[in-house]
Amino acid sequence: MESLVNNLYKNHDLDDDGLKLLIDAKDTKYLFEKAVEVREKYYGRAVYTRGLIEFTNYCKNNCLYCGLRAGNNGLARYRLTKEDILSCCDDGYELGFRTFVLQGGEDMTYSDDDICDIVREIKSAHPDCAVTLSIGERSFESYKAYREAGADRYLLRHETADEEHYKKLHPESMSLANRKRCLFDLKRLGYQVGSGFMVGSPYQTLDNLVSDLRFLQELQPDMIGIGPFLPHSDTPFADFEKGSLERCLNLIAILRLMFPYALIPATTALGTIHPLGREMGLKAGANVVMPNLSPVGVRKLYELYDNKICTGEEAAECRGCLERRVRAAGFELVTDIGNVKKKIM
Ligand code: SAH
Ligand code: SF4
Repeated sequence: MESLVNNLYKNHDLDDDGLKLLIDAKDTKYLFEKAVEVREKYYGRAVYTRGLIEFTNYCKNNCLYCGLRAGNNGLARYRLTKEDILSCCDDGYELGFRTFVLQGGEDMTYSDDDICDIVREIKSAHPDCAVTLSIGERSFESYKAYREAGADRYLLRHETADEEHYKKLHPESMSLANRKRCLFDLKRLGYQVGSGFMVGSPYQTLDNLVSDLRFLQELQPDMIGIGPFLPHSDTPFADFEKGSLERCLNLIAILRLMFPYALIPATTALGTIHPLGREMGLKAGANVVMPNLSPVGVRKLYELYDNKICTGEEAAECRGCLERRVRAAGFELVTDIGNVKKKIM
């Protein structure tokens, strides 16, 4: 096991069999040690933080895993106004956030002009902050307009890089080809791009996970978000098992060794599957946390999966809680725009 880790550490690559052994490794002490060593070399003990604003839970899509899917009729839907969003950013700024992530379902009620207007106003109120969008698949022209309005980054997980697996997770109307087209368009437009996948999504095989890692090598994203699949009771995947915490942590460490420069969040899903999941993620090589800045009144309605954490606290409480957690894990939450480091390996 140690020689596999050393190989990955040295070459940022490994053959498929080696990767599979590491994904399911039981003795992970050395793997995690090396991952933390690499993150320290690039980012020190700093943990970057992003304020997440979940501004709409309407979605036209029907991804089979997601609680926001259009087919979930039982969900009360909400939209935040531009004023709501700006006020979340103002509060977040006071709390030390220098990146705002606007995330939502694919809600076409917001026109491109609306999105551009929101981005422009955030950038003009807080010119020292980055704006990240995470609003799904759009045309090149739309992405271009958002970029010109000032958006700096874009999060769009590829979800799975295997064509057959993709079809099992999504309705006919969606395709892996379009997902990939979006990701490469975003790169071309100069966004810092984040991709990623769920660990333990229904029907996922070890080979699928290797394909995910290979696709990321091709894309070379700046940010890589992974988290365990967690079932939502009002979706077709309600009765599937949740993903494995251990696999997720191993994959975070593997990603750190493959992509030393990357921004890798310890995700909310990781914090949901285990009370100390995010701390474990940091100790496996993650270096970003993304607490919620959405108004408390709507948080429970942004239910991607059951039992999502942090739906009851005010933003200030979340920030304080995370600061304590990050420090207890041996790291330091910083007030910083948190750009990706140069890709020197
Ligand atoms: N609509 C946008 C952003 C919102 S969904 C998009 O799809 O890109 C954000 C992420 O939540 C998705 O990329 C997916 O990986 C994750 N997610 C959705 N349902 C989930 C579930 N049941 N368990 C774990 N993660 C889930
Ligand atoms: Fe919509 Fe995103 Fe959920 Fe798919 S994952 S249903 S696109 S919110």
